[in-house]
Amino acid sequence: MIRLYDTALSTVTPLETREAGKVSMYVCGPTVYGPPHLGHGRFSLVFDILRRYLIWSGNQVSYVSNITDIDDKILQRAAQEGRDWTEVAQEYEQVWYSAMDALGVLRPDHDPHATQYVEQMVQLIADLIEQDAAYVTPDGVYLSVDRVPGYGLLARQSLDEMLTGGGDRVILGEGNKHHPADFVLWKFAKPNEPAWPSPWGSGRPGWHTECVVMSLDLLGDGFDLHGGGMDLAFPHHENERAQAVAIGRPFAGHWMHNGFVEVGGEKMSKSLNNFTTLVDLIASHDPRAYRLVVLGSHYRSPVEVTDSTITAAENALDRLDSLARRVAEVAPAEPEPAAMAAFQNQMDNDLDTPATYAQIFGLVTEINRALDAGDEQGSVGPLVAAWRQILGAVGLEVFGQAQQAPAEILALASQRDEARAAKEWALADSLRDEIHAAGWVAEDSPTGTQVRQA
Ligand SMILES: [Zn+2]
Repeated sequence: MIRLYDTALSTVTPLETREAGKVSMYVCGPTVYGPPHLGHGRFSLVFDILRRYLIWSGNQVSYVSNITDIDDKILQRAAQEGRDWTEVAQEYEQVWYSAMDALGVLRPDHDPHATQYVEQMVQLIADLIEQDAAYVTPDGVYLSVDRVPGYGLLARQSLDEMLTGGGDRVILGEGNKHHPADFVLWKFAKPNEPAWPSPWGSGRPGWHTECVVMSLDLLGDGFDLHGGGMDLAFPHHENERAQAVAIGRPFAGHWMHNGFVEVGGEKMSKSLNNFTTLVDLIASHDPRAYRLVVLGSHYRSPVEVTDSTITAAENALDRLDSLARRVAEVAPAEPEPAAMAAFQNQMDNDLDTPATYAQIFGLVTEINRALDAGDEQGSVGPLVAAWRQILGAVGLEVFGQAQQAPAEILALASQRDEARAAKEWALADSLRDEIHAAGWVAEDSPTGTQVRQA
């Protein structure tokens, strides 16, 4: 079984599941109030790679990721733009999924929406009040962290340390809270805000309540893995867990968090290739490049997502695609067993994707060498099969089929052949440049100029 770092234990530990061969996972999804940013892309890719690998390893994976479709930020944008808040949420949910599709992130098995779960959230809050773990104030209902044994598990810091400033996190009291770390479960509605009925007054649920209700409803008590970006460990995940503990329901068995995205010292200028959101990145670059960057760094380390790291990844993708074209005709074979064993070992070792990244490119070199030598050992078939399997298991698509060039490019290619036949080298070169400027590469072959996509 795969071993993964567990934030609650601060150590790498086997992913124990409720049922052998089945993995239930919950990954906090987006609040749909604007275009997704680079950090959204990273967590989506990290958990997509984990999910695909678990499936490849023979597990049946149940993947739930929510859509927060009611939130202060959505209301703010709606007010700024003079639109209905539901319209804002719907628009950015579409933007979210089209970005995820472009990245090749599999859609969740379930994507519960906060607004569909309000009644169940009201029920949970009622249970918490009955357990004396929550209280009503003039502005909302709050959870008493004092009533939660082990609060601070995911912060890796006790409540006392948070209060005295003994650690990194210092919390300050505000408003009607009994304790500075108490958090809101239900916010009473201000005039003209959307509101749902509750026994304590109409309002809307807090964010932390949404995920605990949805994950337990769709995956059940003691589901296997809860994930998200490192910034969610505290307070969001801590507070989800606190509510489950307070009502005595076993919560996530394993906590997994990915590291931050860094944009480096690179200035975000308005140059053509620069991007500040995930949507910009996808519009200006090959979206597979982000997956390659994510594979190249360990999920717990920070990753630099800048114009230069994405461009370098695009160049690396060219090497993969060009091998894919070269081996397009290689017949299917049994994958080379040593390569597959190495792949499994490194992925089982806390999802060591940098080792897999190195292996993918190591295989490119090995396969090219064997082909150059005329495949005397007959090793190419099994190596290519292993390479294809590994790429598939981590969701990295390669393009082996040459795209059919449009007629105007083919016309330029034949003009180039005529120019070469007439030894008009300068004209031939300028035609090659013209082909290149249109996004194609002209290559010489025994039958004349061949074009392929750049
Ligand atoms: Zn969440």
